[in-house]
Amino acid sequence: MSHRPLPLPGEKFWKRIEAAPGRVLFLDYDGTLAPFRKNSHEATPYPGVRKVLEKILESGGCRMVLISGRWTKDLPPLLGLKKFPEIWGSHGLERLTPNSHYEMATLSNVEVRGLAEANELVIKAGLGRHSEQKPGSLALHWRGLDENIRVRLISIVEQKLAPLARKTGLVLKEFDGGLELRVPGRNKGDAVHTVLSEESPEAVCAYLGDDLTDEDAFKALEGRGLGILVRRQWRSTAATAWLKPPGELIRFLERWAEVCTVVQGKESRDRNMHRNLC
Ligand SMILES: [Mg+2]
Repeated sequence: MSHRPLPLPGEKFWKRIEAAPGRVLFLDYDGTLAPFRKNSHEATPYPGVRKVLEKILESGGCRMVLISGRWTKDLPPLLGLKKFPEIWGSHGLERLTPNSHYEMATLSNVEVRGLAEANELVIKAGLGRHSEQKPGSLALHWRGLDENIRVRLISIVEQKLAPLARKTGLVLKEFDGGLELRVPGRNKGDAVHTVLSEESPEAVCAYLGDDLTDEDAFKALEGRGLGILVRRQWRSTAATAWLKPPGELIRFLERWAEVCTVVQGKESRDRNMHRNLC
């Protein structure tokens, strides 16, 4: 865990990415690719992000994987990309592949009933408009809200949701701008582990994230690449590099796109040469 501000990704990293037989670019969405908005449905990417993501996807030189706390279905309209990356939603509980194959973790009856009960409690307290039902979780959002609503939301968490969590085995997890009651056992780090297990052991990756929920993912990289904190203000983190959005973020993605284009061009030339020799 680093308690001091971190450097930008250095040349050593780019050389490693260029030389690797495979590359994976893991991206968080809110706060990383898109600035926070009071209305989360208005949180579109920073200007320039869409264009560079298109470039990376078009290059075919890496596997792009979005890992978010959001429901997977909410991300494609916000991203607005022609081609879609692989998307893991609900902090790793759901997976939507680029060819629209969808997987969802299995929930027990107790967990399903617990989440339904939590939703009723929040609605009964008159706070339903600040909650969001997602697969495997119920999120309470307090970003930009009046202090008195925030206090009411925290109070329902302490008085109703915490006992319900103890009874059902659900867990309460904080994120930037709120808190969610969710099924245990899967987090963004598990999503990273699964993706990396499908890649060559020599594949190199980068994970870009801003939130506390991204810390599990930074820890899951285990020497396979670079964990990059994307945030205007620095904070203690398990990441090993730091980018300030949007400027440094765009420059990083541009460089990534450049590497993918060059590497992909070289690999396809090598394949053609090999085919001709055979
Ligand atoms: Mg985030």
